[in-house]
Amino acid sequence: AKDAGRDAFRFFTTEMNAQSLARLDLENALRRAIDNDEFVLYYQPKVHIGSGRVSGAEALIRWQRPGHGMVSPALFIPILEETGLIVKVGTWVINEACGQIGRWGRAGVGPVHVSVNVSGIQFFVGGLEEEVLKAIELHAIAPELLELELTESSLMSNAEETIAVLRNLKALGISISIDDFGTGYSSLAYLKRFPIDKLKIDIAFVREVTSNPDDAAIVLAIINMAHSLKLRVIAEGVEKDAQLAYLRRHGCDEMQGYYFSRPLPGPEFEQMLRGGK
Ligand code: C2E
Ligand code: CA
Ligand code: CA
Ligand code: CA
Repeated sequence: AKDAGRDAFRFFTTEMNAQSLARLDLENALRRAIDNDEFVLYYQPKVHIGSGRVSGAEALIRWQRPGHGMVSPALFIPILEETGLIVKVGTWVINEACGQIGRWGRAGVGPVHVSVNVSGIQFFVGGLEEEVLKAIELHAIAPELLELELTESSLMSNAEETIAVLRNLKALGISISIDDFGTGYSSLAYLKRFPIDKLKIDIAFVREVTSNPDDAAIVLAIINMAHSLKLRVIAEGVEKDAQLAYLRRHGCDEMQGYYFSRPLPGPEFEQMLRGGK
């Protein structure tokens, strides 16, 4: 029994070593990824439910890791956050999105409104306002075309500081939305005090909105609350006719999801805007 225990222990440490080596490998590869230009932004259209027209896009990061194909952000954003690399990558994302807004404007397909995801770490490390201002000025874009998506949980940790940063960001002319709404613990009282523009209903509620009465009730409550607070509301993860019909019937403003389009590389998004798809 003693030997078996020792063997199990040896096996366990070998496993651990393999795991931490793989992790270290991934970290190092991520450190090089920015300098080597391996990140790319995809753009998923947002659609105005009333008119059916494209109202903008959400920028979603992808990593073209050499020898590994396209890596999903779900796999590397957590590592970027743990290592603090998210700050540098987040700045790249903001800059790249502003550059794309500028290029679409000059190409005559704009103005395109683009939202970018911002990690709570980026938000609280300080200097986000300066980074955003620099990117807007460098690419000479209208600040109204840029939106930041922040999650509930990243906003709730320090309300006073959050309000101050949000006010500074809003003063630049950009807009703010709360991402994954309904999944964190939102204090509705703070929601009223935060200078935000939009709530994004999380995919988890949209998925079964037509089959699960609880989800239907939650989606309805979010839409009504948003409108009462003079906020716009968008639903993510819309895949089916019936979901769209429910959202339209209850006055949701915008939607996003595979029903309309997957996230597209910039040039394909532009082609779609030109009506070539
Ligand atoms: P998110 O912000 O909630 O983004 C929505 C995710 O749902 C995206 O996954 C999108 O591709 C996917 N999606 C869109 N429509 C549908 C649909 O109809 N059905 C389903 N099942 N999924 C749909 P993606 O691109 O893999 O991104 C995953 C998460 O990674 C994002 O979730 C966001 O939290 C994070 N992320 C992506 N890009 C960035 C970034 O530039 N910075 C930061 N900090 N986080 C990012
Ligand atoms: Ca998002
Ligand atoms: Ca989400
Ligand atoms: Ca998210």
